[in-house]
Amino acid sequence: MNTALILAGGIGQRVGKDIPKQFLEIRGIPIMAYTLYAFQLNPDVDRIAVVCVDGWADEVLSYRERFGITKLCQIIPGGSNSMQSISNGVMSVEAEDGDIIIVHDSVRPLISQEVISDCIAKCRIYGNGCASIPLQETIVRTSDRICGKVNIDRSEVMRVQTPQAYDYGQIRQLYSKAMELGIKDSVYVNTLMMELGGTIYFSEGSTTNIKITTASDLKLFEIFLDHGVVPVPGS
Ligand code: C5P
Repeated sequence: MNTALILAGGIGQRVGKDIPKQFLEIRGIPIMAYTLYAFQLNPDVDRIAVVCVDGWADEVLSYRERFGITKLCQIIPGGSNSMQSISNGVMSVEAEDGDIIIVHDSVRPLISQEVISDCIAKCRIYGNGCASIPLQETIVRTSDRICGKVNIDRSEVMRVQTPQAYDYGQIRQLYSKAMELGIKDSVYVNTLMMELGGTIYFSEGSTTNIKITTASDLKLFEIFLDHGVVPVPGS
């Protein structure tokens, strides 16, 4: 059984609106409904669980009817930071040994079917799969964001996105170990995995798979929608 664990536990202040950014409506449809719809359509995904910010669970549950998200089967309370939200999700998600958990940001609605499927395929081969892309710009190390002196060879780095798929038993162990060690602020599953000595495996990512963070990302999202990059829920 493959379960998508969709992270919607944050409030997204940088986008500058008065509701959590995942619930902002673009063309009458909440951002995270586009995200959920992608997982609803994917034949490799059996179930969807959402880690949700306080007060918004009923809104998310309404998407089952409103947008046909019939795979949605569980809502889990969010935490005070992304690590806490993921940890709540991993510890509470209904799953069994041998299952695959696909962690994804609710605010990455431009997720393609190919990216979801390759992530799961890499997890089946290697035990995990993290959507990633190479960098096209030059990369410079800085300590103050004012100046820099050291170039980083871009052939040696990758940008890691979501989705990220993990073996259920392993991801549970990872977060149990983090609790034991008192690690509370590793930003994502891949960072925690490497912090605890593990290896991550890259799966196909995409430059269109943007994380909506600022107001200008909302505009980009609309432009991509105009070009039919992802299907629109209910269409
Ligand atoms: O804040 P940022 O854009 O990095 O958040 C990435 C994802 O993590 C979003 O989908 C957000 O809802 C989620 N998140 C969460 N719980 C938090 C903070 C962020 O689930 N406390």
